[in-house]
Amino acid sequence: MSAGCGISQQQEVQVGAEQAQQVNAQLPIVQDPVVNRYLNILGDSIAHVTSRADLDWHFYMVNTNDFNAFALPGGYIYVNRGVAERSDRMDQFASVVAHEIGHVVLRHSVKQMEQMQGANVGVTIACVLTGVCNSGLAQAGINVAGQAVFAKFSREDEAQADAAGVDELVRAGINPNGMPEMFQKLIAERQSKPAGLEAWFTDHPLEEDRVQATRDQIARVNPAIIRTLTSDTRAFQDFKSRVRSLPAPPVASR
Ligand SMILES: [Zn+2]
Repeated sequence: MSAGCGISQQQEVQVGAEQAQQVNAQLPIVQDPVVNRYLNILGDSIAHVTSRADLDWHFYMVNTNDFNAFALPGGYIYVNRGVAERSDRMDQFASVVAHEIGHVVLRHSVKQMEQMQGANVGVTIACVLTGVCNSGLAQAGINVAGQAVFAKFSREDEAQADAAGVDELVRAGINPNGMPEMFQKLIAERQSKPAGLEAWFTDHPLEEDRVQATRDQIARVNPAIIRTLTSDTRAFQDFKSRVRSLPAPPVASR
């Protein structure tokens, strides 16, 4: 986009809300109020310690066993059921939520939108800015299966989201060691059972050095502070049991 065409927070939120509407119409979203209440309480507790606490954050669980999560602009976070089911403790689950919040706080999608002239998302922006949307145009502009929503972030963006996530977790009173543990768990699972993790590894290239980077960052936090942080809660275990009790996902793993 040309100079002076930067995307304001209001525009970002409008784009995110439109994309969320499309995503919610097309993906199987868990409607269980108990699951959604916990997810939103946990998500808000992390989001509210960031520099973008003013956003109206929304957290959704996608009813699929794949290990994946994604963030839309403006504070719409989606976490797959498979993430909760693979988490032993609250801090592991929270680390995935914190990573996605990190992408929003760092405005990674917004920066991509500002750079992606002529791409689908450019159409979306133009549509939002001119207010001439009709449903057909909106449909053309937002391709949920395509790059516009599921934008691939760079390795640098991923590393920044990890780092932001560790900071957010500590500020929210949650033990950040859940993050490298979750990565290790996934590496182990990928080695034994590659199917079902493909989506996460496609969207979030994961290498040992990423695990090491988060460990190094955590090692720089005062151990006296780390000792005060929460690793698990009864509320999380109740949430996980509730997730496990839901009817099987409607679609097979991709
Ligand atoms: Zn990411």
